[in-house]
Amino acid sequence: MAGTKTGQFKEIISPYLKNLMNKYKSEKGEKSKEYQSLFQQYIYNPKEKKITNSERSRHYNSVVKIKFQGKNIVGVERLYKRTILLEPTTVCAAHCRWCLRGQYPVQTMTREEITTAAKYMGSDYVKNDVNEILITGGDPLMSQSLLEYCLSQIQIYAPNIDTVRIGTRVPLQDPSRVNDKLIDMLSLYDKFDFEFGINVCHYSEFTKESIDAIKKLRKARYKIYNQHPLLKNVNDDIQTLIKLYDKMRELKIEPHYLFHAIPMRGMSHHRTSVKKGLELSMKLNSSGYFSGRSKPKYTLMTDLGKVVLYDGSILKKDPDSKNILIKTSYNITERQKWVPGWEKPDSVEVNSDNTMNVWYEDGSDE
Ligand code: SF4
Repeated sequence: MAGTKTGQFKEIISPYLKNLMNKYKSEKGEKSKEYQSLFQQYIYNPKEKKITNSERSRHYNSVVKIKFQGKNIVGVERLYKRTILLEPTTVCAAHCRWCLRGQYPVQTMTREEITTAAKYMGSDYVKNDVNEILITGGDPLMSQSLLEYCLSQIQIYAPNIDTVRIGTRVPLQDPSRVNDKLIDMLSLYDKFDFEFGINVCHYSEFTKESIDAIKKLRKARYKIYNQHPLLKNVNDDIQTLIKLYDKMRELKIEPHYLFHAIPMRGMSHHRTSVKKGLELSMKLNSSGYFSGRSKPKYTLMTDLGKVVLYDGSILKKDPDSKNILIKTSYNITERQKWVPGWEKPDSVEVNSDNTMNVWYEDGSDE
């Protein structure tokens, strides 16, 4: 499960991924891009113990912290106007060493908590703004029954929700779980537009089995999109990215975000500089080597939320640290309305027009 009880993010690798790693190791060699792309993503690295003071264990301050109808809201996050998050379980088929949620507390929601969350999402406080839910975790496809319960409660209590996004790496980590039973269950909820966000980082994750799983979801007419981090020694070179995005287009997977790897606890060895990501993004988006319909947005996950970088987004650099100040259009008044209990992080500066800028810790190319 993503998350930890002890502060140590356990190494978990599904049998399918173990077999795939063994196959790449014997067929292509230990130094091959294919083997290394999985090794770097899934095998514990002692460098994870190197923790800097500024690294954090939560990527956003977005948890909805209120009582609703006399009960604490659990497992709900929100940062933006239209989208709300539900995290029914922290269980995953494998642990990605770069996971944002690696330091989250381990948790599986009770049915009562899910019902309360769904009622909150359909309440007068929320319903006029929110029309989209991201069910994430952990991996929602690790428990079909829990996922079905979430869908049933959202359908009953939050009719304002029409788009259901499911954040999952199961098609890449344990593809046999994408089976007829899952599709039959989802088809009971065809009121919703389902979209699956799958986090492919490297083309080596596309195998016969994962492609079959992706095609099964596509055949059921569900949308699939990809967002993923830029990871050192996995995908921080232009040829790998071109191959990944070209393959995504072939499989009709929409590009979404290409994230700069976030300054999470113990993750510095995965992080390139922001500048390197900008250079790669520029090359990628003007290479002409794959369809223009498959271009991602290079994005920072700051303490305020996602910020797509444009010319002028980086306002200044702190000469004494690796921090850079990022301009955003997030508004403090709206943030406080959308996220009950939200507290302004120390990294945030408020401008006279109520927009906010945020300090972000850069990575390194060494
Ligand atoms: S599957 Fe998702 S939630 Fe689980 S460890 Fe990987 S990135 Fe994190």
